[in-house]
Amino acid sequence: MALLTVVAPFLNERDSAADFAAFASKLGEEVKTRHGLDLEVILVDDGSSDDSIARYREYLSGNWRIVELSRNFGKEVALFAGIEQSRGDFVLMVDADLQHPYSVCLELIDKIMADPELDVVYSIRDDRMDESLKKAIAGRFFYWIINSRQRVNIPENAGDFRIMRRSVADALLTVRDKRRFNKGLYAWAGFRQEGVYYTPDARHAGTSKWSRLALVALSLEGITSFSVLPLRVLSGVGVLIGLAGMLYGLKILFEVMFHGIDVPGYPSLMVAVLVLGGFNLALLGLLGEYIWVAVSEVKDRPLYIVRRIHGPDRSS
Ligand code: UDP
Ligand code: MG
Repeated sequence: MALLTVVAPFLNERDSAADFAAFASKLGEEVKTRHGLDLEVILVDDGSSDDSIARYREYLSGNWRIVELSRNFGKEVALFAGIEQSRGDFVLMVDADLQHPYSVCLELIDKIMADPELDVVYSIRDDRMDESLKKAIAGRFFYWIINSRQRVNIPENAGDFRIMRRSVADALLTVRDKRRFNKGLYAWAGFRQEGVYYTPDARHAGTSKWSRLALVALSLEGITSFSVLPLRVLSGVGVLIGLAGMLYGLKILFEVMFHGIDVPGYPSLMVAVLVLGGFNLALLGLLGEYIWVAVSEVKDRPLYIVRRIHGPDRSS
C-alpha cells in the first residue's frame, strides 16, 4: 500500500496541537478510503520552548513521529529535517498552525493521484489583495529581481504548502545548501509542477512567528542565493558614475585651459565624495551578503541537529 507522509514543522504551537491531531486523523481516514493511502505524520519541533511536544504526544494517534531539533533552525531547515525522516511515496508539507485548509490538502492529494505524470502540486496564496499596496509592490520587485535569471522561474506566492512524489523529495534532499531559500530550490529542482490557488485560513491559535525583519532577511536570502542581478546593476552604476566623473573632469580642464575660469572646488568635491562614498558603502554591504552566503557554505556544518525522536513505539 502506498504511503503519504504529512510533514509539519512547528515552533511553540501548543494551542493548536489538539486541532492538528484531529486534522491528521481525519485526513488519514479520508485518504485511505479515497486513494487507499496509508498516512505517516512527521512533526518537526523547531526548538519550541513550550510544552508543544507533550501536547502532541497526548493527542496524536496512528503512525506519527516528532523530530525534536536541538534548537531553532528556522522553518526552511525544519522542513528539510522532516523530509529526510519521511518514508512516504508522497510528501505533503503543511503548517502546524492549520492555516492550510483541509479541503485544499485534499485537492492537492487528489490532483497528484489523478495524474501519474505530475510530480509536484503546489499551492499559490491568493490573499495578496488585502495586504497593503506597499507590501505587494515590494513583493513584486523581489520576484522581479530573483527571476531576472531566466532559467528557473520562481512562481509568485507559491510557498512550502505542496505535495510531491518521492523522487522530488529525494532530489531536494540532495541539495545541501546551508542558507536555504525553499521557493528557489523547488523551482530549481524542476520536475512537472502544477499550481492550485487557495486562501489561507486564520491561525487556530498563537501568533505568527515571522517578524517583518525576518521577512526582509528571507528576501535577502533569496536574492543572494538566486540572483546576481544586484551585483551587475551596481557594477553598471559604478561604471556610469566613473564615466560621468571623467567627463566632468574633462569639462573643468577645458574651461580652465581655454577660458581661464576658476574651478569651484568645494561643492563639486563634496558631491563626488558623497555620491561615490555612498555607492561604495552600499556595494560593500551587498558584497558582504554574498560573501556571508559563501562562508556559510564553506564551513560545511550539518544543516540541523536532532535532539531526540519521539514516537508511539518509543518510550522517550
Ligand atoms: N515555524 C517553524 N520555525 C520557525 C518559524 C515558524 O517551524 O522558526 C513554523 C510555525 O510553527 C508554523 C509554520 O512554521 O507551523 C508557519 O509559521 P507562521 O504561522 O508563524 O508563519 P505565517 O503563517 O505567518 O507565514
Ligand atoms: Mg501561519
